[in-house]
Amino acid sequence: MPDTSVEQGQHPRVFVADIGGSSIRLGVSDAPGSVRLVESVPTPVDNWEAFGATLEALAARHIGETGSPLVISMAGAIDPASGVICASNVPCVSGRVLGAELSSRLRRRIRMANDAACLALAEAVEGAGAGHDVVFCVVLGSGVGGALVVGGRVVGGASGIAGEWGHGLPVGTSVEFDGMGHVQPVSALRCGCGRLGCVDTIGGARGLERLNTLLNDEQKDSHTLLDDWQRGGERARRTVSAWLALVSEPLAAVINITGASVVPVCGGLADVAPLIDALDAAVRKRTLREFRERVVVPGVFRRDGGLIGAAIVARQDDAREP
Ligand SMILES: [Zn+2]
Repeated sequence: MPDTSVEQGQHPRVFVADIGGSSIRLGVSDAPGSVRLVESVPTPVDNWEAFGATLEALAARHIGETGSPLVISMAGAIDPASGVICASNVPCVSGRVLGAELSSRLRRRIRMANDAACLALAEAVEGAGAGHDVVFCVVLGSGVGGALVVGGRVVGGASGIAGEWGHGLPVGTSVEFDGMGHVQPVSALRCGCGRLGCVDTIGGARGLERLNTLLNDEQKDSHTLLDDWQRGGERARRTVSAWLALVSEPLAAVINITGASVVPVCGGLADVAPLIDALDAAVRKRTLREFRERVVVPGVFRRDGGLIGAAIVARQDDAREP
């Protein structure tokens, strides 16, 4: 039974989807700040025909023939000029003009949006960044991402991925552990993008594990490592101290450059509140502006930010239409 487009009250119903490497989640929003998940299905990552058919069936089951547009939040870079998507976690869509191809197949307007941008919009408009004009949202998941929102609008820029601080900005190659000026070299690691020493090589959960292997010559998953750190383990302390020093430098530079007054952090590492507290302290030591209040804060929408941000994109699109 399709969820027909009820347009009661002052907010029209909007449909949104969050497509990741493991699942496609379809949601519906009847009011700002709330999205109800209606169905979640596995993502056909390697089969384009199955991918299109899955979305078509989801739309038929829940949206029906109402012509309602669908905003899709998805990891990957979408070229603003051509609309071509590069999505490493769903190989079957990479290189396609995905929005246009799905619009034609599903016979409704499909608007594609980058997932980090949706998350940032959710935090900036309805989450931890609400009330701030310039919000830089950081994602510390298995890797590193980010997006910039100014005046309630995502700044995509010519690349469509402005705010992507995980690549191109190198982290330092030495760390001082004892506050006495004794530094230890840290080898720059080769990044998946081909460059050397990107923030992405050490900044996310996998990066933290790599850094621990580099400094302590041991294999440990990020959960165990952060538990050890919170219990005062010496090896974990060395790794997290190095991580804080190496990640806070480029993040402070991003704050200097963008003029952001708040940095909500999303992704798995944001669940460890003491880590975000420590990152905030390390960043504020390094910014040019002296911040008296917290700058780096845990995000509010760490699980459903993609869907909530996509609903904001849908309402912003509606407001632009005559
Ligand atoms: Zn890189």
